[in-house]
Amino acid sequence: MLVNHGQEILKGDVNSHLRDTALKALKDKAIPVELVLGAKVTKVGRDRLEYQLENEESTKTISTQTVVWTAGTANNPLLKTLSIGDENRDKHGLPMVTDTLQLLDFPEVFAAGDCAVVLDRSYPPGAQIAYQEGKTIAKNLMALSQNKELHPVNASMRGTLMKLGIRNGVANIFDKVKVKGRAGDSIRSLTYLEMLPTPIHNFNATTEWLSDEIFHHHHYHQPTKSGQPKPNNRLAGLASIAAGAIAAVALVGGLTAVWHTTHSGNQPQTTQKQLKK
Ligand SMILES: Cc1cc2nc3c(=O)[nH]c(=O)nc-3n(C[C@H](O)[C@H](O)[C@H](O)COP(=O)(O)OP(=O)(O)OC[C@H]3O[C@@H](n4cnc5c(N)ncnc54)[C@H](O)[C@@H]3O)c2cc1C
Repeated sequence: MLVNHGQEILKGDVNSHLRDTALKALKDKAIPVELVLGAKVTKVGRDRLEYQLENEESTKTISTQTVVWTAGTANNPLLKTLSIGDENRDKHGLPMVTDTLQLLDFPEVFAAGDCAVVLDRSYPPGAQIAYQEGKTIAKNLMALSQNKELHPVNASMRGTLMKLGIRNGVANIFDKVKVKGRAGDSIRSLTYLEMLPTPIHNFNATTEWLSDEIFHHHHYHQPTKSGQPKPNNRLAGLASIAAGAIAAVALVGGLTAVWHTTHSGNQPQTTQKQLKK
């Protein structure tokens, strides 16, 4: 049972265009997921969950001993205590940074990821953006130490990637090509593996993931609606990894080509002096 505050799942989410795919995946589960929409959770107890439907005064109760809370995250409370004026925060209280990822009041401080909002950009909070911003900060620290000009951040989404269950996912490559199922899941995993910060992280995570995929360490059998488990098939695993690898390489290669095209001759735009002025 999925209890959702809004009348639609994934509303306002970066993956909202994958709503139909997600709804189908929930419906196709061995035990279909029942949706309770327009419902505000008012209480979670040891053996129950209470919710209130829109336009209703009374609450309803679901008996359950397992609740998975996925209602999002709040800003880190530390952010409130920083001496940054309201004029330099967004409406959610997040500090704003320049395109070189420096705080407006304190250019010697860099901030990125979920705890900062880049001026004049509308980046969604997400790992893909956070990774790219992290790289820009590293480059800018190096530039600062060499008294060179700083680089503006130029993050882009590599399409949207969504997990829909064990070995099931959807990769919407550059928001144009949708790859679903096991191949979509492999593209998702490979795309995130490629983003890991150091070769050793990448090697460890890749070998762990490959060994799970090929030797099925999950000991998992995908149940079907008929109740018969699908046989685990190493060849199917290898085939989906190969398909995922080709697509992920194409995705990363394409992105790099686009990046080089758009950045050739692109000079850093903001200097420390300009910022101080
Ligand atoms: C359940 C869930 C699923 C998600 N799935 C996806 C997804 O599929 N794709 C995607 O792109 N994004 C996803 N995200 C979002 C993604 O995780 C974040 O956008 C990303 O991690 C932001 O990176 P960050 O470095 O800004 O923050 P974080 O990764 O949150 O890192 C912040 C770090 O700061 C540390 N920290 C906090 N306070 C202090 C302190 N006072 N002192 C020192 N350290 C501190 C924390 O321990 C943490 O290690 C998901 C998020 C959640 C919660």
